[in-house]
Amino acid sequence: RPAHFAPAELAERSLSQPDQPFEALPPFADYRTYRAHGGYALAARLVNGEEDAEAVIRALEDSGLRGLGGAGFPAGRKWRIVRDQPAPRVMAINIDEGEPGTFKDRSFLERDPHRFLEGLLVAAQIVGIDACYIYLRDEYHDCRALLEAELAALRADPPCPLPTIELRRGAGAYICGEESAMIESIEGKRGEPRMRPPYIAQVGLFGRPTLEHNFETLYWVRDIVERGPQWWSGFGRHGRKGLRSFSVSGRVKHPGVKLAPAGITVRELIDEYCGGMLDGHTLHAYLPGGASGGILPAHMDDIPLDFDTLQPHGAFIGSAAVMVLSQHDRARDAALNVMRFFAHESCGQCTPCRVGTTKAAALMQAATWDNATLEDLAQVMGDASICGLGQAAPNPIRSIQKYFPQEIQ
Ligand code: SF4
Repeated sequence: RPAHFAPAELAERSLSQPDQPFEALPPFADYRTYRAHGGYALAARLVNGEEDAEAVIRALEDSGLRGLGGAGFPAGRKWRIVRDQPAPRVMAINIDEGEPGTFKDRSFLERDPHRFLEGLLVAAQIVGIDACYIYLRDEYHDCRALLEAELAALRADPPCPLPTIELRRGAGAYICGEESAMIESIEGKRGEPRMRPPYIAQVGLFGRPTLEHNFETLYWVRDIVERGPQWWSGFGRHGRKGLRSFSVSGRVKHPGVKLAPAGITVRELIDEYCGGMLDGHTLHAYLPGGASGGILPAHMDDIPLDFDTLQPHGAFIGSAAVMVLSQHDRARDAALNVMRFFAHESCGQCTPCRVGTTKAAALMQAATWDNATLEDLAQVMGDASICGLGQAAPNPIRSIQKYFPQEIQ
């Protein structure tokens, strides 16, 4: 089997043979293999002044690359914002991957860790970062061993001077995937989100201006710069641009990570990339964005899946974790499960979220929902919670009330 794994090949193969399981691809590129195939040349050129930093940022902006952890903030603009802040600046990289149903970062990290590390070096060089903190999900034991070994190989034979790179373990808290809670955790404190402003781009980790990125955003930097922004923006369907790594689970024949065009619909994703629904199952509902992204009914299977396209329907794509339910499932059970998860993972810092999620989960167990009280709770949680967990907690309630009223009457 070929030892080298390149995302461009993956993208092409994924688009020409979409129902091939992701796992069938060549498995792993270590440091030597990665460098032998041109790896770290971009980072070295940047450090040596042979590559124009401004051109790299422009390439990111022209490609339309957005933060792939869920928030979707334009990557190039974020680099400019942090670069304009006073030094010293630091970087925090989120590989906590705690969103239920999301496992894309791990799949890329296990196969091609240096493509991510090169993206990290490129960002560090351009933004003027002194120290990088990688926050890795505690449950990813093998990834930690792998990353430690590959970081050691990189440090032993660096392609260019390296910034400080530290690998930090999470401790299993969902809320530490929220950027400011992650920063608190890296600082050694309890993982509780901060009030904003100030934004972490101004006052972040250790009080310094902080560039925060999801793993996958940095993973694509090298290919976008080397292949040109049109390579990335040339993918896409239904008027959307770029690639999305969907983590698909549930009642489909071939679940897994599916690298597919941004804007693909869930129907196309299931039929073309997942081998269709399981035998004996028809689509009943789907969660387009993990626990936080709402629940949509089967007749809405033609909405392009991307940032901004789902909001009018009370949903969002987040980190692209698509969970597929069939006629053998009830959407209300999924909603209850999600609310229990929020109640369990609430950091407890603010009352609307801490009390509201627990009360909502209790009310959602009734055969017939008390819609007026649930709406009251949803309103307070959405309006008065400090962070996205509490603000998104009403989504499953409202999805069920709006699209599945027959299940709660
Ligand atoms: Fe913590 Fe929930 Fe408040 Fe967020 S909304 S700060 S998770 S209590």
